[in-house]
This record gives sequence, structure tokens and C-alpha cells, in this order.
Amino acid sequence: EAAAHLRLESFITTRLAEYSEMRNRMDLDGTSALSPYLRFGLLSARQAAWAVRHAELSAADPPARQGAETWLNELIWREFYFAILHHFPFVLRQAFRPRFRELAWRDDPQGFAAWAQGRTGYPVVDAAMRQLLRTGWMHNRARMLVASFLAKDLLIDWRQGEQFFMQHLLDGDPASNNGGWQWTAGTGTDATPYFRVFNPVLQGRRFDPQGDYIRRWVPELANLPAYLIHAPWAKRLSVPGYPDPIVAHDFARQRALNFYKQ
Ligand code: FAD
Repeated sequence: EAAAHLRLESFITTRLAEYSEMRNRMDLDGTSALSPYLRFGLLSARQAAWAVRHAELSAADPPARQGAETWLNELIWREFYFAILHHFPFVLRQAFRPRFRELAWRDDPQGFAAWAQGRTGYPVVDAAMRQLLRTGWMHNRARMLVASFLAKDLLIDWRQGEQFFMQHLLDGDPASNNGGWQWTAGTGTDATPYFRVFNPVLQGRRFDPQGDYIRRWVPELANLPAYLIHAPWAKRLSVPGYPDPIVAHDFARQRALNFYKQ
């Protein structure tokens, strides 16, 4: 509990003001990493909300206030997914939206294993999965990317990914995890539309511009320069020990669009 409060205070004084700009950058510690503490009640959402609201009211300038506002908006997702699970407990078994309940997901144990081990050949996806395996935590942007890759590029049932996350996340929470997976798979409440398929290369370039997140978790790629690191194969570069992409994203994207339209 003491550690949770120290972390909250330190986040408020050092990073809250920049949270709006930094929260999506996977290479920076731009978020609070309070999720395991919130998950197990070492810090309550009310305590966190009160402290951040207080910082917002005493903030010196509009950008600092914006950081607090954005953080509170994120915290609200947690409450939202708790409410969803309470009122619609069936979401733990099936899609929230009826029209997506009968999708014929692919049976692909090899694809799932490559995803779970961080060996898909997509550097940002692999970095994220290895961060999860090594630390029990993963950046939010990275969670969206790996979930999209499993559900949309591989067309593997999001419930397999949901279960894997619950087995490995320190902050693993049935409501937030289910909400995150259904949002990304396009089957949930307020979800991202099914035709939005994250491009792992473009997302990597945008939210890990120098490739430092990849270098940290995928040592095979540590010596590649920023312009190559997000898609080494594009320049016909074969890196010893690192796999080629298990699926071509352009093909997978089109396949996903057809699949969801069924
Ligand atoms: P900050 O950005 O500092 O946010 C502060 C707090 O707000 C978080 O600690 C968390 O309690 C809450 N929060 C922020 N974003 C969300 C969100 N989208 N949904 C719910 N709560 C949110 N969060 C979990 O706590 N447990 C999970 O099991 C979980 N599984 C996820 C699975 C997927 C596929 C996705 C896309 C997201 C998932 N999230 C989950 C939400 C989010 O990724 C994490 O809460 C966040 O990365 C935790 O890091 P942080 O504490 O630094 O977040």
C-alpha cells in the first residue's frame, strides 16, 4: 500500500502533466503503471481519482490540466468495464454484440504459439509479448496491437488471447481484460470497428519512433537502425535467429475484412 501511494505521488509530480502526449509512447515510461495496485486494492480508484483531481485543480497551466483530465478519462474505462461485466456477465463467454457471436475463428495452434512466444516476425508485436512474459505487464498501446494481431491478422478467437493475458498479467482483471479484448476484436461495447485493423509496422514507427522499445525486448534486433527495425524483411534483411513474418499484413487485413463481413 505504501509503495502504491509513493508511485501515485511520484507519477503526479513528474509525469502527469505530460501524460496526454506521452501515454501512447511504448519506449517511454509515460503512464503510471498503477494497474497492479488498483487491481488488488492496494490503491482505490477513489484515492487515485481524488489525488489527480486535486493536481488538476492546482495545475499551473492548461497542458498540465489536460494531463490530469486525460488520465481520469482512462481510469473511467476501468469503471465502465466493471459495470459492463456486472450487468452483462455473459461477456466472459461470448461477444457482447450478437452479430459477432457466430464467427468461425481459425484453429491455428502454430500461429498462437508464435504469438505467445513473441516470434511472429513483427518486431513490435514480439517486443510486447516478450515484455509480458518477462515482467507480467504490457503497455496499453502494445496490448491493443498484439490483441489486434491475434484476432485480426491471425483470426484466432480473442478468447484464447484473453485467457493467455489472464495467465500472465500482474494486473489481469476479468472485466478490464475482457473489455480490452472485445474492444480490439470489434465484438464489444463501444468497440473499435471491425474494419480497423492495426498495421503493426506503422504503429511501431509512430509510437516507438527510434525502435528503443523493440531493442529492449528483442535483443536479436538490437543493432538495427531505426529505419530498418520495424520491418527488417522489407529491405530483404534476414536477421540471424529472428523469424520472417508468419503472415503478410496486407493479405491478413483483406482476409479479416472478408471474415467479419460474413
Ligand atoms: P495508466 O495509463 O496510468 O491508466 C491509469 C489506470 O486506469 C490503469 O492503471 C487502469 O486501472 C485504468 N485504465 C487505463 N486504461 C484502461 C482501459 N483501457 N481499460 C480499463 N482500465 C484502464 N487493464 C487492467 O487493469 N487489467 C487487465 O487485465 C487489462 N487487460 C487489457 C487487455 C487488452 C487487450 C487491452 C487493450 C487493455 C487491457 N487493460 C487492462 C487496460 C490497460 O492496458 C491497462 O490498464 C494499462 O495499460 C495499465 O497501465 P497503467 O497503470 O500505466 O495505465
